[in-house]
Amino acid sequence: MTTEIANNVDALRQRIRQACERAGRSPDDVRLVAVSKTRSPEQIGEAIAAAGLTVFGESRVQEAAQKIEHCPSGVAWHFIGHLQRNKARPAAALFDMVHAVDSLPLLQALDAAAGEHGRCLDICLQVNVSGEASKFGVTPDDLNELAAAAASCRNLNFCGLMTIPPAVRNPDDARPFFRHLFDLRQSCRDAVGVTNLGLSMGMSHDFEIAIEEGANWIRVGSAIFGRRT
Ligand SMILES: *Cc1c(COP(=O)(O)O)cnc(C)c1O
Repeated sequence: MTTEIANNVDALRQRIRQACERAGRSPDDVRLVAVSKTRSPEQIGEAIAAAGLTVFGESRVQEAAQKIEHCPSGVAWHFIGHLQRNKARPAAALFDMVHAVDSLPLLQALDAAAGEHGRCLDICLQVNVSGEASKFGVTPDDLNELAAAAASCRNLNFCGLMTIPPAVRNPDDARPFFRHLFDLRQSCRDAVGVTNLGLSMGMSHDFEIAIEEGANWIRVGSAIFGRRT
């Protein structure tokens, strides 16, 4: 069945392939997180059935908790927003991966919560590469210390770094921020000795640039589901 969502995802996959080609990368190394915040279970069901999407991103725990039970099972749920420490328990039960861990207390709360639920949770550390006061994320200077703590958590799988660049009109202007995260990953690998760290970066507006700069997860909402109202 061809639907608007399926058409959007076709076009998106083609742009992902083309960006990978330009960068000499394999499309298998770029995973698509379909950002489904504000979208209904019906829209999510359509994205699964008609477009074959398998990973969904939410940014509010309560919204996700109410929605996930009404969505088809067998897909992965990623938490992509800012997580408050007092939501670590429900988040560790609902989600397979948390993209934006940015403090030691949150890290420890998630580790404990994942342990209580008897599961291993994938996490990325959010880095504030732009230094904007409005952005969450650990500073580049503090990254390696938090990364060492993340690597030692028993119930967390430290699998990468995440960033959100400043809102720029021209997506190419986000490139230096993506490149900075790429470089920080190298120093983090060297400092902590974790070899397989991926990069979570790129949204509807700038995912092609992010892919060219090494993204392994792109978090795309409006290019799939249309504008959020
Ligand atoms: C909403 C959101 C996205 C997706 O944004 P689009 O512009 O709709 O693709 C990606 N990442 C985070 C952290 C978000 O909050």
